[in-house]
Amino acid sequence: MRMRRKRYSCSVISFFWGLDRVYPALGPHTLFLADDYRENFASIVKRLDLPANPSLYLHAPGRLDPGMAPPGEDTLIAIVPVGHINEHNPQDWAVLIHQARRAVFRRLSLLGITDLEAHIQFETVFAPPSWLKRYNLSKGATHGLCHNLTQLGYLRPGNRHPHYTNLYFTGASTHPGTGMPTALVSARHTATRICEAWGLTP
Ligand SMILES: Cc1cc2nc3c(=O)[nH]c(=O)nc-3n(C[C@H](O)[C@H](O)[C@H](O)COP(=O)(O)OP(=O)(O)OC[C@H]3O[C@@H](n4cnc5c(N)ncnc54)[C@H](O)[C@@H]3O)c2cc1C
Repeated sequence: MRMRRKRYSCSVISFFWGLDRVYPALGPHTLFLADDYRENFASIVKRLDLPANPSLYLHAPGRLDPGMAPPGEDTLIAIVPVGHINEHNPQDWAVLIHQARRAVFRRLSLLGITDLEAHIQFETVFAPPSWLKRYNLSKGATHGLCHNLTQLGYLRPGNRHPHYTNLYFTGASTHPGTGMPTALVSARHTATRICEAWGLTP
């Protein structure tokens, strides 16, 4: 019941593409920011929707590690932020995935890349229902509980249960918060607390 009252972070629609050619115009990291960032956030956070002109991130891992694709071919990841699953008024994910894909192609055309779709040989798509199914992420929220004022610091779920003191928690939705490095800090905190409770050297 208490968890139902918590607020959750946004989610993302991610495209993982295998391409039969390389686009030299794409560096390892490409970020497109929404023109109207207030509307962008309102759409994602308040309406749990996909903005009409979303910010998005493109990663070409082959620029950093040539082993990510055979010579002359490429891999590309596109990440488009979107609202988490709306349990009261479920989104049509097929439509939102289609719109997100079009948004990526539209943005790429600004770099002169207009034929990407024709060069996609393989595709895997992850959207909030897939994050929920594959990783058991509540509401498909990829960053767990959000970092609003009432879910920060002391108010965020701790690493040790307040009553059942031999029950521990770790990960993005606990102390200190979300993201890879922070989740690792959370693991260290929890391990340290367990060691202290058992009189072990951390
Ligand atoms: C597309 C994407 C991009 C991201 N980019 C970044 C980034 O650039 N930088 C960054 O810092 N963070 C990023 N994040 C966030 C980061 O990945 C998470 O904050 C971090 O992985 C959280 O770690 P965790 O250990 O709490 O949870 P997870 O990494 O989700 O690990 C939890 C594990 O528990 C398993 N599990 C769940 N339920 C059960 C169960 N009942 N029984 C057994 N196993 C279970 C899951 O399958 C999963 O393997 C990104 C996330 C996504 C989805």
